[in-house]
This record gives sequence, C-alpha cells and structure tokens, in this order.
Amino acid sequence: MKRKTVYLDNAATTKTSKTAIEAMTPYFDTVYGNPSSLHSAGQDAAEALADARERIAKLFGAEAREITFTSGGSEADNQAIVSAAKLGEKKGKKHIISTAIEHHAVLHTLNRLEREGFEVTLLPVDGEGLVTPGQVGDAIREDTCLVTVMYANNEIGTVEPIREIGEVCRAAGVPFHTDAVQAAGHLRIDVAEQNIDLLSISAHKFHGPKGVGALYARKGFRLTNIIEGGAQERGKRAGTENVPAIMGMAAALEEACARMDENAKKLTAMRDRLIDELSRIPHSVLNGDAKKRLPGNVNFCFEGIEGESLLLLLDDRGICASSGSACTSGSLDPSHVLLAIGRPHEIAHGSLRLSLSEENTDEEIEYTAGAVREVVEYLRNMSPVWRDLVAGKKEFITK
Ligand SMILES: *Cc1c(COP(=O)(O)O)cnc(C)c1O
Repeated sequence: MKRKTVYLDNAATTKTSKTAIEAMTPYFDTVYGNPSSLHSAGQDAAEALADARERIAKLFGAEAREITFTSGGSEADNQAIVSAAKLGEKKGKKHIISTAIEHHAVLHTLNRLEREGFEVTLLPVDGEGLVTPGQVGDAIREDTCLVTVMYANNEIGTVEPIREIGEVCRAAGVPFHTDAVQAAGHLRIDVAEQNIDLLSISAHKFHGPKGVGALYARKGFRLTNIIEGGAQERGKRAGTENVPAIMGMAAALEEACARMDENAKKLTAMRDRLIDELSRIPHSVLNGDAKKRLPGNVNFCFEGIEGESLLLLLDDRGICASSGSACTSGSLDPSHVLLAIGRPHEIAHGSLRLSLSEENTDEEIEYTAGAVREVVEYLRNMSPVWRDLVAGKKEFITK
C-alpha cells in the first residue's frame, strides 16, 4: 500500500523543481565540456556558466563577477568568514561579531578561528530570536574585522533586521556577511540596498539541486580560497564547476523570485492557520517571532513530551517533520537556538519544526494539525513527567 506523505521539512531541503531538472539535463549529456577547456565544447559550457552567474547576480542586485560558485551554503559561509578573518588579521584586527543562533556552518567556523587566536562576540537574541542593530553597533570595536548575522533562522524562522544591521556595519567600515540560505528565493534581497558585503546561498533550499551554492562578495573584497587547485572561479575556488547543478540553481532561483509574492501569500496563510491550530494545544508555545518570520516556518515546543518520539509517530502517519535542525538530529543536546531564545532544557526537548512549501495544500495542513494534536495527547498520556505536572508535583513552564 502506498502511503501518502506530507512533506513538511522544506527548511532541511526541498524537492528539486521540474524547471531546475529541465535546466540541468542538457549539461549532463549535450553541453558536457569542461568550462576551463579552450575548445568549443568547453567554451559552450563556459558561456552557460557566465550566463548563470549573470542571472543569479541580477536577482540580488549584484554583478556577475561578485558571484563565486561553491558546493553549497556551508562552503559559502566558511569562505566568507575565513576570508574576512584573513583580511582582518593582516591589519591586526582579530575580533568577529555574530549571534548565538547562527547555523553550525557559521558557529563551527568561528570556533575554529577562536582556537587560532581570534576573539568572537556572540550577541544574545531576545525571546523571539531577534538581534538589534544597536546591539551590533555597541559590540563593534576598533579591531572588529567582520559582522556575520543570518538573514533568517533555519529553526525558528525569525527574520533579522538585515538592512539596518548592514547600515551600522557600513558606517563603522566593518564588512558584513549574512547567511541568507533560508531567505534566498523566499524573501527579497538586494545587496546594495541592504548594505550586504558577503552573502551565502544554497540551491537545495529553493527547489534547486543539492551540493551547489554561491557566495556573493562585494567587488574589492578579496576572497581567500579554501580549496586549492586550478584557477576556476577567478582563482578563488578551485575545482571544475558543477555546471549542471549551477544551471539548475539559476533556473530555480529565477522561478522562486518570479513567484515570490504569490508563494509568500499562500505560505503565510497556511503557516498562520497551522500556528493558530497548534496554539490551541494546551501547554504549547510558538518559537520565533509571530510576524518577522519566514513565510513557511512553524516551530513549537510542547511541554511534557520528547521531540524525537513526536517525530517518529508523525512519520508513522506520513508526516515528514523535524525537531529543528537536520544537523543536530541524532544528538541529544537540545537546540542551541531554542536555548538562546530562553526555552528551558525541559521544553526545548519537545520541539517540532514544520517547514512548508508552496506545494503543500490546505488539506495537508488540516491533516497535520489533527495528527499533531492526537500524537501530543497520546505521548503525554504515557509520560511520567506529564503525570507529575498534571498532579501538581511539578510546575508547568508553559501556559
Ligand atoms: C541549510 C543551511 C546551511 C547549509 O547549507 P548546505 O548547502 O546544506 O551546506 C547553512 N545555513 C543555513 C541557515 C541553512 O539553513
């Protein structure tokens, strides 16, 4: 029997769109030359690559030469941060500012730099996951060589005040990087208007293929290559470009940007309906800002249950969800993002992230709301912790 799946884990990855697949196909078996080759087969691939670079740049208000193709969001984050650190080090500036809720691709790169003698200030966020431009301004010092703040959080969906933070950095002459992996294709981005110097994107978060991304670096900003080898990507990223994937990324991004308003409207309506339904579950709490939020993100904590059990039982009902970040699943530590917004360990363990795509339907949302309600009740009935809470032996944290 074929079970219907309701895929609600689009923050982890998305389905590759037909548009992206069609854009990729010719570059496997027709235009398969190496773009660095001088013969015509290579030059055809080089032309396609140049075209994709131009189209992607345009969607962010950038120039083609400001785009470097990478293997994804993680690599783009690594390269942006390491580059800024190297430039800073030359000038004796070894202080970096970031936030407590960044993706591990950012946090772990910063950890490594700390071990190499850099000083990192991780700004705390408020209960909604927001950091203010004022906090950034106050943290900037003479020796600050980079500010890196994510555009939108992958777990709780909070959208940060990027333009205003960029303005503060610009005024202080400090390079500003944003991990825009969750925002690209979903929210409008203009690197000039938003004062962004470095920006990371990943194709598989907007219906492109996996294993490809891009780093925007404002012209004049010298990137350090983290992969040594040939002179591809103006000498900043060695390795034969993944031409098919890059073509798929360009097509997917164009489609996502063209349909952005329409998709956002549909997603926001489904998101708010789901938030409304799940809020009715007693002792539940929404994580992230209700308004400054990715159009497709829903994230809740349910007191008295384990997120892992909730996920398994939802999967039995065909619902693909997540407890937060795909990267921390399998680890027993609660999410650093939920702890940063002040959720105590006890309830941070009972988290559920549902991340929607425009292909989801109202019926799926209705079905999911019902399933979550039932599964939460079922798990609570079996939970000794819940029994203690109900019996008044322990205090409820949530309302
Ligand atoms: C998915 C994600 C990444 C990593 O991107 P990959 O292409 O999977 O390496 C980085 N940052 C954020 C915010 C993400 O959601």
